[in-house]
Amino acid sequence: MLTPAEADAAIAAHLVRAPDQTVPLPAGAGRVLRQEVRADRDAPPFDRVAMDGIAIASAAFRHGRREFRVAAVQPAGAPPFKLASETDCIEVMTGASLPDGCDAVVPVERIRMDGDVATLEAGHVPAPWMHVHRRASDARVGDLLLPAGTRLGGPEIAIAASAGLALLTVAQAPRIAVISTGDELIEPGLPVLDHQVRRSNSYGLGAALRLAGFPPITDLHLPDQRPVQEAALADALARHDVLVLSGGVSAGRFDHVPGALAALGVRRVFHQVSQRPGQPLWFGIGNSGTTVFALPGNPVSVLVCLSRYVIPALLAAAGVRISARRNVALAQAFEFRSPLSCFLPVALEYDQGGNTLAVAKPTRGSGDFISLAGTDGFVELPRGPALHPAGLAVPFYAW
Ligand code: AMP
Ligand code: MG
Repeated sequence: MLTPAEADAAIAAHLVRAPDQTVPLPAGAGRVLRQEVRADRDAPPFDRVAMDGIAIASAAFRHGRREFRVAAVQPAGAPPFKLASETDCIEVMTGASLPDGCDAVVPVERIRMDGDVATLEAGHVPAPWMHVHRRASDARVGDLLLPAGTRLGGPEIAIAASAGLALLTVAQAPRIAVISTGDELIEPGLPVLDHQVRRSNSYGLGAALRLAGFPPITDLHLPDQRPVQEAALADALARHDVLVLSGGVSAGRFDHVPGALAALGVRRVFHQVSQRPGQPLWFGIGNSGTTVFALPGNPVSVLVCLSRYVIPALLAAAGVRISARRNVALAQAFEFRSPLSCFLPVALEYDQGGNTLAVAKPTRGSGDFISLAGTDGFVELPRGPALHPAGLAVPFYAW
């Protein structure tokens, strides 16, 4: 049986890199950049006025001048005026190009206006380049602004826009199918009998995938019948890059998923990981390269396995530059009695020193997903049995 780290390595060794795709800039949100974004001009591209007020030559102040005649008004979006005389100023707006001959902006709050004469507030010293966002102070033309592999959030989309890009090359979104199995499962909204449960995993998996930037394109439910599963999985393998199955991978009489996948030529890379929850995790690769994660059906197991293995694999296939995983400190000692790695649901708290503490929120087994409400994710505790001490630094996985 593989350890979680060995399972990571086995998955990584079989990942298929997603191809490139060009999309309109707004559609880049949440995607993974496959090109470099470089500055096509300096940032800012001109000496940018940073406050509403007046622009002056600061030398005039040093020469003793406190009153300035307003010679012109310089709005944002207009080419810069030229200051004709040191005794003058130009009224300027935030975002305007600093008028030629000026080197400082005095904010409107620091002046008094009498007709067209602005008088500086006593004690205000306009030093050179005060309230001027200088040309190229943030980036020079040609500078690398975003490397390939960047996840595109709000700031990155703004940077790409500022570099003039209307189209972006990103990793193509994988076609993902979420496939649940089980004769006991009933769709939310439909009548349910006492011996049945609601089909909740698929909705949890779909939500988590969507929030991670990988919306599934298919949601399929299969009964615990081998021929039906084989036919449906053959079709799903042909139409998707990734299958995320839940249920039917354990040792029960009606757990047909591994057999059905094998019969369809999906090569098993591993089955079983020394972890709790999620020990029966199955991973394989289809004939035509489809990546297949078959997760054990217990609702805590599916969510843990998705965050622990599936989403990191999807990010890696997209080419994300992965930053080091965040470690958090166990808030209290936690005893785990099995010779397995333990994924322990936690709520995060912050101590006075700004350290992130993980407060254990153990579930009553892998079927108890009700206890997950209000948790932030889970930590990975090293292989037990062990009494893991308070303060132990452990990797954290968000839901
Ligand atoms: P299995 O892995 O198929 O043996 O399922 C383990 C447990 O998880 C059983 O109690 C199932 O009823 C439950 N389960 C499996 N799939 C789902 C699902 N899609 N939604 C909710 N519970 C499920
Ligand atoms: Mg089942």
